[in-house]
Amino acid sequence: MENTNLYINGEWRDGSDNQRFDVMNPADETVLASVASATVSDAKDALDAADAAFADWAGRTPRQRAEILRKAFELMTARLDDFARLITLENGKGRTDAIGEATYAAEFFRWFSEEAVRSHGQIGHAPASGARIIVQHKPAGIAVLITPWNYPAAMGTRKIAPALAAGCPVIIKPASETPLTMLALMPLLEEAGVPKGVVNVLPSRQTGPMVDALLHDPRVRVVSFTGSTPVGRKLLVAAADQVLKPAMELGGNAPLLVFEDADIDVAVEGAMLAKMRNLGEACTAANRFYVHEKVADEFIEKFTKAMAALKMGNGIDEGVDVGPLVNADTRSKVAAFVDDAVARGAKIHLGGTVPNGPGFFYPPTVMSNVPADAECVCDEIFGPVAAIQTFTDQEDAIKRANDTEYGLVAYVFTEDMKRGMHVCERLEYGMVGLNRGLVSDPAAPFGGMKQSGLGREGGHEGMHEYMETQYISASW
Ligand code: NAP
Repeated sequence: MENTNLYINGEWRDGSDNQRFDVMNPADETVLASVASATVSDAKDALDAADAAFADWAGRTPRQRAEILRKAFELMTARLDDFARLITLENGKGRTDAIGEATYAAEFFRWFSEEAVRSHGQIGHAPASGARIIVQHKPAGIAVLITPWNYPAAMGTRKIAPALAAGCPVIIKPASETPLTMLALMPLLEEAGVPKGVVNVLPSRQTGPMVDALLHDPRVRVVSFTGSTPVGRKLLVAAADQVLKPAMELGGNAPLLVFEDADIDVAVEGAMLAKMRNLGEACTAANRFYVHEKVADEFIEKFTKAMAALKMGNGIDEGVDVGPLVNADTRSKVAAFVDDAVARGAKIHLGGTVPNGPGFFYPPTVMSNVPADAECVCDEIFGPVAAIQTFTDQEDAIKRANDTEYGLVAYVFTEDMKRGMHVCERLEYGMVGLNRGLVSDPAAPFGGMKQSGLGREGGHEGMHEYMETQYISASW
């Protein structure tokens, strides 16, 4: 496999202590590649490179940066198959999910090539003094980007594209399970015209100390993290030392509400997307299903039939819908969630048993009668398991949906738009899918309320995470 070293200042090199770590194929448990592991000293070199590149990159016109991002979009779109294959190999997801991710990832380059030239400021008169108020946005500085394993391409491009559009150089720390896709993106960015030092990639097994060194260097101004809430909390503490601009895309515990007036076929289709996109290994995955008692039997029957029709296997093979989970720990956690729910009285309609290896497979699983205190209701399942509860009262359903420290995304199914909008507005979530099981869109602000995060990615908001607002009070 190519591109398994650190990428610093446009060059491929070993880590300073020559340590490497293995990346596994979760479908057959074989080693895919041995990847260089960055040290604190390598982090310093990447900072020097990013710092040296900053003035030139920030000084380019928005149009010049936009043209490079547009080229990156075109190159990635032409190579979707290659990226999808690599995503499947290191993450496990099936081809449809992998193509979906590669397409979504490429779209961030297109969207932010369009946003790069629309960073408008404003000018006005101060009401009392009559001075001019001039407001403009400037690149914030070097951004440290830390990404998870569930979307090896898209969680990176959702940060790289707006940072580059804003004029910031970046240092990326990809997840140790899945660093290969991000490394494979680097030759493409070079070809698109990204100058040396503007994008640097540091896979590492010395994650804590290496990231800590980055966040304590005074040249860094932004930390953008996607991952679990516990790690996000730690990074917020580290970011406080230098008062870095934080962007945090953290965990979720998405409720999916099906009202008695929902079109059940639409609800099942939406639930399949919300639950099974990316095998449920998504912060946006529907985690808690609340179905009105009057339609529960019909919903469970149709949903179970749709789940049963999915084909499980090695994601690289044609026609496979459900690949393996990313590693043994993730699968053990999913299996333990199901066992816990069953021990508390849940009924299994489908799946629920770990198949023989090799590979970290777990079958599509449907459970009903899941009690509110089951672990899978309180925590992110991060696997292909649907935990269904019922309700009779709208207010009770809203209350139960909001009863979590998370607030990333919720899903609502009803044919009554008045009710739909009312329920959406009462939900304490950064995003709501109304009669839709998919909300992610590069043109929309992605992000959560409460402990699901700070800031937004995508949309018009995305670039502002990488910009400072400057106000000039002027008289002439
Ligand atoms: P994770 O364990 O928090 O890891 C995410 C990244 O943080 C990885 O690159 C990891 O590196 C790094 N990391 C771990 N400990 C660190 C530390 N002490 N200091 C600095 N960096 C550290 O999360 P994950 O298991 O990869 O991803 C799953 C989580 O991400 C779920 O909770 C999911 O909801 C969340 N997520 C959220 C969004 C969103 O947009 N809100 C999107 C996708 C996923 P190593 O791999 O080297 O440990």
